[in-house]
Amino acid sequence: MTALCQPPASHFIDGHYLEDAAGDPIPVISPATGEEIARLHAVTPALIDRALDAATRAQAEWARLSGGARGRVLRRAAEIMRTRNRELSELETRNTGKPLQETLVADAASGADALDYFGSIAAGLTGEHIPLGADFAYTVRDPLGVCVGIGAWNYPIQIASWKCAPALACGNAMVFKPSEITPLSALKLAEILIEAGAPAGLFNVVQGMGPVGAALSTDPRVAKVSLTGSVPTGRRVYAAAAEGLKHVTMELGGKSPLIVFEDADIENAISGAILGNFYSSGQICSNGTRVFVQKRIKEKFLKRLTERLQGVVMGDPLDEAVNFGPLISPAQMEKVLSYIGIGKAEGARLITGGTRADRDGCFVAPTVFADVTDQMTIAREEIFGPVMAVLDFDDEAEVIARANATQFGLAAGVFTADLTRAHRVIGQLKAGTTWINTYNLTPVEMPFGGVKASGFGRENGHAAIEHYSQLKSVYVALTPTQAPY
Ligand code: NDP
Repeated sequence: MTALCQPPASHFIDGHYLEDAAGDPIPVISPATGEEIARLHAVTPALIDRALDAATRAQAEWARLSGGARGRVLRRAAEIMRTRNRELSELETRNTGKPLQETLVADAASGADALDYFGSIAAGLTGEHIPLGADFAYTVRDPLGVCVGIGAWNYPIQIASWKCAPALACGNAMVFKPSEITPLSALKLAEILIEAGAPAGLFNVVQGMGPVGAALSTDPRVAKVSLTGSVPTGRRVYAAAAEGLKHVTMELGGKSPLIVFEDADIENAISGAILGNFYSSGQICSNGTRVFVQKRIKEKFLKRLTERLQGVVMGDPLDEAVNFGPLISPAQMEKVLSYIGIGKAEGARLITGGTRADRDGCFVAPTVFADVTDQMTIAREEIFGPVMAVLDFDDEAEVIARANATQFGLAAGVFTADLTRAHRVIGQLKAGTTWINTYNLTPVEMPFGGVKASGFGRENGHAAIEHYSQLKSVYVALTPTQAPY
């Protein structure tokens, strides 16, 4: 399998694959089988330099093109991605362990949507005309320059695409560092952009651990850093970027509330809770891992949820009948199992799961705890695995206060048949991305991002344009300039 996933080289810089074997080795392991599927090297300072120089040069060239011309390249890249969706999805499945059933629809496909969307609006990125009596002013939407993207391991090609599509549409260049656990698919994106006609150096991929991200975030050639990662990493990257007064987008972790009122369509609410806790084996930042269920329907909810979980099919993630894959790594599995142990020790009622699955690979059974209280560790900390905490509540005011009592604010969901209540509750939840009667749908047209410790800035939607461009104001005098002397 190594031959199958081994890229020509570790990095993609200035339009080419490049290797420097002096960098620390990065073995790439399949979480489903434990097999090494590729072996890369971390980037060395000399290659970081080359990547940033290439991006600086390409950005100047790219920014001179019209928005329409830039957009055509992005839309062509979207088409190539769609044509290769199966191949890209198989690669993503091999590297992340996520079921092919998921990657076929949620990873490269979502990346293609982003390239298409931002490619389509590139030509419409204009400034504004401001009449000032006899004079006037206008604004120009300028790119920021060279942007750095740093990705997490759960949605590798999606994260790379969500960052590069708006960046490139606005006339920026990008150097992207994937998580060292999932370094493969961003390289494919770089290849595709070149094939679509992007200039060499416009989108570069360099591999490495945290220190590579840190070197990129502090380089004076870099205008912006966009990170998808955990809150502790976010704090470090934000501080490093602040030193150089760089723009930042921070897509960080969460512990989001999913609130089910007693009048909700219970099957629909359970579908939302399943999507928001077990899709991608729970490794999704916006997951609704605190499921607040109104007391009168709690036991019914738990019973139907347990029945529905009989539909979980674990196994080889490349088998399209499989709908539940392993966790990304042995370390992540140990972390999740340790949280499950804490849940049991702190007195939560285990409804189902609670153990490593009886098979090879990093599989943990979908786990549901009931009678969870707000103080329990599993209700406060992000687990990033298939562990649902079900909490009871009596009334609306109480659940809103408890839902908001967290450092995080990435997402929230409300299930109820009463739409007035749905909007009233959503209006009071402190979260950046919210859903009514569904959960975790993130179409590219809708801005996505968090508040509080979950970060700031937005990906997707027109909102992302604000985070990859800056306005220049131009005052035009048509009348003589008045000076006091
Ligand atoms: P990490 O925070 O561990 O890492 C994120 C990225 O930052 C990785 O590429 C990592 O490198 C890099 N990095 C680590 N240290 C530094 C540093 N000092 N300077 C620059 N870069 C650094 O997150 P995970 O990869 O473990 O992903 C899981 C986390 O991501 C969860 O908390 C999850 O909630 C969050 N996430 C948020 C999303 C959102 O949109 N809000 C979406 C998806 C995930 P490396 O790992 O290679 O060493």
